[in-house]
Amino acid sequence: MTPAHAKASNAILPEGFAQALAHVCSKNTLITDSDSMQRFLIEERSLFTSNAEIVVAPSTAQEVSRIISLCAQWEVPVVPQGGNTGLVGGTVAGRGEVLMSLQKLNRILEVDAENFTITVEAGCILADVQKAASDVGCFFPLSLGAEGSCTIGGNIASNAGGIGVLKYGNTRELTLGLEVILSDGRIWNGMRPLYKDNTGYSLKNLFIGSEGSLGIVTKAILKLYPAHIQRKKAFCALNSPRDALTLLALARKRSGDDVTAFELMSRFSLEIVTKHTDNNEPFSESYPWYALIEFSTSRTGNDLELLFEAFAEEAFETGLILDAVVAQSVDQEQRLAALRESIPEAQKKAGGSIKHDVSVPVSKVPDLIEKASAAVLALIPDAKICAFGHVGDGNVHFNVTQPDGADRKVFLERWDDVNAVVYEATTQLGGSISAEHGIGLLKVYEINHYRDPVEGELMRTIKAALDPYNIMNPGKLVAS
Ligand code: FAD
Repeated sequence: MTPAHAKASNAILPEGFAQALAHVCSKNTLITDSDSMQRFLIEERSLFTSNAEIVVAPSTAQEVSRIISLCAQWEVPVVPQGGNTGLVGGTVAGRGEVLMSLQKLNRILEVDAENFTITVEAGCILADVQKAASDVGCFFPLSLGAEGSCTIGGNIASNAGGIGVLKYGNTRELTLGLEVILSDGRIWNGMRPLYKDNTGYSLKNLFIGSEGSLGIVTKAILKLYPAHIQRKKAFCALNSPRDALTLLALARKRSGDDVTAFELMSRFSLEIVTKHTDNNEPFSESYPWYALIEFSTSRTGNDLELLFEAFAEEAFETGLILDAVVAQSVDQEQRLAALRESIPEAQKKAGGSIKHDVSVPVSKVPDLIEKASAAVLALIPDAKICAFGHVGDGNVHFNVTQPDGADRKVFLERWDDVNAVVYEATTQLGGSISAEHGIGLLKVYEINHYRDPVEGELMRTIKAALDPYNIMNPGKLVAS
């Protein structure tokens, strides 16, 4: 489904609803003037347009509950929004929908270094949560390019992945407890800081990754880890994705499984980063592939340095690493990380691109890149393959950038054809067409084609049970 065909609903708000809403909202919650509304209506990838007439920004869970209760009475849909950095149009709201920003629920409620937990409101910015953890000698491992603006609620609703998944898992694995406002306004208190809790269905896990389609997350208890004391970061030049996997296995074995990031980048990805952003080539010559590797541990001492050196020596000797820059300071670490993190920005400047966030079993990553590249180049021979990603967990951002000098609009008309061949290659290898970004509006129809029909039915049954009036972010994630 081309994004142009997937649009937010164009229904209108019922007469009298806005006045009723004003009665349940606190002062400054309702945002109706178009200038102040703009930042909530713009979508990260500019694929969709929000035309909501009302934005609400409540500041307590009780206020969220009152608003949802009213929306349920009037059967007015609500679209929750955190930092609005999602990449699948999940926060796009139509005219007859209320866009609810959770950004004012931004209090860090408790950092518990004894239990290794942090309790936060849903609108807390991810980077603020990382900092609060680090202030007490702990570490919150969720880390992604948008961490300066995405919120914990959005991370939970989209089960965000990022660079730390290899070692620490997705947001799901980092979440212990939740508070959620249900579609009738009731507050579900699932704020239990328990690692073990076998008391029935895991409701928490139902809401994680539900993209606002079942309820609104207002609070969470998250897991913390001891802070990292030793760290080594390197940017390595490689021959192929196959070598990258061999290198990853070697790194895991030689570090005592302390690999905390392993990001793969193709030559084209690095080329656009150095051309379109403020980053320099790390090597004097070019290589076909690159990996950003991080070892880190909470152990004291300097054993990681020695483990890293032994790993690097073996990797050079066996020809797995062709060249490498090893960071010697925090500043250098940041510069190496920026090479990977700047790819999305560089892509925007490199012209139109058709993006895929897919995953396959880790060992199949090279096959995926090979098969999908061949299939795309058979369709558009001079397209640029911009493949990169969190390859340590099997996630490839298999993006296709327009050929040099091509007309952006004409190139984007091939959206459906390109998706079809990339998703075909992915599913043939037992993969998923959405690894970490979710379904949103962007893939809501496409997923029906790739999802097991029974799975689709179960999801619709759950949605109907928890949201009988279909007011929670309707038209996203599950479509009838
Ligand atoms: P939003 O975009 O505001 O919302 C996302 C979804 O969650 C929407 O469906 C929304 O309705 C729902 N939602 C938001 N808040 C709530 C709430 N409180 N309760 C219920 N539903 C809610 N994602 C990854 O997984 N890994 C990455 O590595 C990654 N890198 C990125 C890099 C860049 C540069 C950018 C721009 C995005 C990246 N993303 C990545 C995508 C995005 O940042 C994440 O999906 C993030 O988790 C979204 O958080 P947010 O607060 O911005 O959510």
